[in-house]
Amino acid sequence: MKEIAFYGKGGIGKSTISANIAAALSLLDKKALQIGCDPKHDSTRLLLGGQQITTVLDYLKTTNPLAYRLEDILFHGFNGIGCIEAGGPEPGIGCAGRGILSTFELLNRLSLKKHTYDFILYDVLGDVVCGGFAVPIRREYADEIYIVTSGEYMSLYAANNILRGIRNYDDQKKRVAGLIFNQRNIQKEIYRVEAFAEAVGLPICGYIPRDETFALSEKAGKTLVEGFPDSPLRDTFRDLAQQMLTDIPLYEAKPLTDALLEEAVLEIKKQPFSHNIAIKQPPIKE
Ligand code: ATP
Ligand code: MG
Repeated sequence: MKEIAFYGKGGIGKSTISANIAAALSLLDKKALQIGCDPKHDSTRLLLGGQQITTVLDYLKTTNPLAYRLEDILFHGFNGIGCIEAGGPEPGIGCAGRGILSTFELLNRLSLKKHTYDFILYDVLGDVVCGGFAVPIRREYADEIYIVTSGEYMSLYAANNILRGIRNYDDQKKRVAGLIFNQRNIQKEIYRVEAFAEAVGLPICGYIPRDETFALSEKAGKTLVEGFPDSPLRDTFRDLAQQMLTDIPLYEAKPLTDALLEEAVLEIKKQPFSHNIAIKQPPIKE
């Protein structure tokens, strides 16, 4: 059993990527569970035909502790993929990270049988790496961490912050698999992401192009893997899933100072660092 965490800035594409990888893993006959660690609680929507499920926080609020049952918060979607949503407080009230802490506590209490899964995927918002959002980073959870980023400065800033969070928890332990580059189509984007990857010593493990098919599959309440079996992007997710089946090299988190981050990303060097790219279809460079 492998536990994988996807971190990244709000709205960067974590849930879409995580759900598509879960779907691709299930098509490789692997049993997957996706846990949404985001107050927006829409992580697993694409695996459940667009349906929103009871969140753990709502369940805790409305249920007598003596009546807690795993089946009330664990749902099953496409190809039997397990789906759990941590949930979050009403906007402006309470702490967003609290939902994640409560979820992990409840799953322990209800003895979630982790070993019955081949993969547990944590989809975690990464703008603020507060104690709650950092739970999946803890040693006893994620074995491998992927950071989803585009070439936008704020996305790379968040990626760097996530590396800081990992280092603070896990000084010098190698658990970061690399970056997943989700393209936004800004100018010279590949150069920026390569420059960041080079500066923090991480590979780019996957490249997801900007593509209309994501919107179409979202509208259908499905992953692209389920809804568009003929799309070439399905191969991209299958490749990522296959990569997760193997023991890929893992790296230490080596975040940059703010000054070095700006230097690496905003003062883009002329020469790209293509040797650092482990992706199949890098975007065409302008
Ligand atoms: P949040 O932090 O709010 O949970 P997120 O990081 O999980 O957000 P998603 O919800 O997966 O992000 O994606 C945000 C939107 O971007 C969705 O509408 C999704 O369909 C779209 N999207 C993600 N990646 C791509 C892409 N490569 N091409 C086109 N649209 C994309
Ligand atoms: Mg999300």
